[in-house]
Amino acid sequence: MSTEISSKSFKQAQKLIPGGVNSPVRAFSSVGGTPLFISEGNGAYLKDVDGNQYVDFVQSWGPLIFGHRDEDIEKAVIDAVKRGLSFGAPTQAETDLASLVVSMFDSIEKIRFVSSGTEAVMSAIRLARGFTGRDDIVKFTGCYHGHSDSLLVEAGSGAVTFGNPSSPGVPEDFTKHTLLATYNDIESVKKCFADSNDIACVIIEPIAGNMGLVPADKEFLAELRKLCDDNGTLLIFDEVMSGFRASINGAESITGTTPDIVTLGKVIGGGMPVGAFGARAEIMDKLSPDGPVYQAGTLSGNPVAMAAGLAALSKLKKNTQVLNILNKRARRLVEGMQAEADKCGIKMQVDTRGTMFGFFFNENEVKNFADACSSDAKTFASFHSGMLKEGFYFACSLYETGFISTAISDEMIEDTIKASARVFKGMKNV
Ligand SMILES: *Cc1c(COP(=O)(O)O)cnc(C)c1O
Repeated sequence: MSTEISSKSFKQAQKLIPGGVNSPVRAFSSVGGTPLFISEGNGAYLKDVDGNQYVDFVQSWGPLIFGHRDEDIEKAVIDAVKRGLSFGAPTQAETDLASLVVSMFDSIEKIRFVSSGTEAVMSAIRLARGFTGRDDIVKFTGCYHGHSDSLLVEAGSGAVTFGNPSSPGVPEDFTKHTLLATYNDIESVKKCFADSNDIACVIIEPIAGNMGLVPADKEFLAELRKLCDDNGTLLIFDEVMSGFRASINGAESITGTTPDIVTLGKVIGGGMPVGAFGARAEIMDKLSPDGPVYQAGTLSGNPVAMAAGLAALSKLKKNTQVLNILNKRARRLVEGMQAEADKCGIKMQVDTRGTMFGFFFNENEVKNFADACSSDAKTFASFHSGMLKEGFYFACSLYETGFISTAISDEMIEDTIKASARVFKGMKNV
């Protein structure tokens, strides 16, 4: 397998674009090697500029639930393009997509569209602060909510729950309003409420996908809901990744806990840049122009992006069984790979939610970020490069979730498991 052209392209890109990439995870830094430059996608497959073909378990990091170049989505986009790329004025497609999402999520009565998940979360936090008149927020270590200032926070030293900036360029004055708690640990959230009586919202990925796949326990979410209610605090479910992937009716439909605000992204744009946040009308009506909380976007609700989202979500809504079918494939995939790893004495933890799958090279169950970090990064890197050589494209970081699309067949799953057996055997023999 030659990747010579990719390597050349990467060198050229590195001279002009920091790290050669427009989003850091793409740089392959945690698995070594150079990133593959992609020339095209088709169904389940990605093709790189050297002509190699891979079964794609990344799916553009989530959005492409129907695989690459789904006919219906492609057609909707082309039709929209022919009517104009952007108007900066309302179009019917925005109301249609809003209506579709509202019909799928019980907790959402009104919704606003933006252009990325980062923007959706940032705006939802401002709305929660504006609605409650409070400044502090609680987030969980290991949950990712985009790259806005108050969410780029890591654990402070010792006993304090107030976070430190996790990136230069973020003033401490901003992150002092962000308190950090431990995923699946309600005592850590209680401590935040003991430290602050000014908490506007608790934000959580109800099915965390950015520390690998780590779903929250049902009981934990129920207790979180109660703590928020007791303190007049809003609960935000960040479903930018899990939305329409774990369930078509939101995590609320499978966890039994209803959030106040939901943030969406990825699948909602069918492969185009779309984010959204929604809530009951009482909260959403605080947004400008109806209310005082300002939020805006020149390309928000872009007609081409709306057309792609509308095509993707309509298709999902019409085929409600699709997530169950894909979940069976996801389960077969990770359980099959786990069995092969086991034969080679490699311990794997696996889980799935809908079309999302996760695995850790870890002897113990993973319930939070510290657990995830105790996984074997070296084994992951060997697995990743071995699978790539076999023609299977997995996310290039052990803290990412994998995705099944409708284009991935049962046969491809079996082939992936067989390839993993060869890769694990090869790793054992080194
Ligand atoms: C991807 C992601 C984001 C950020 O979305 P972008 O579109 O990359 O800005 C926010 N929250 C979660 C849970 C995500 O997975």
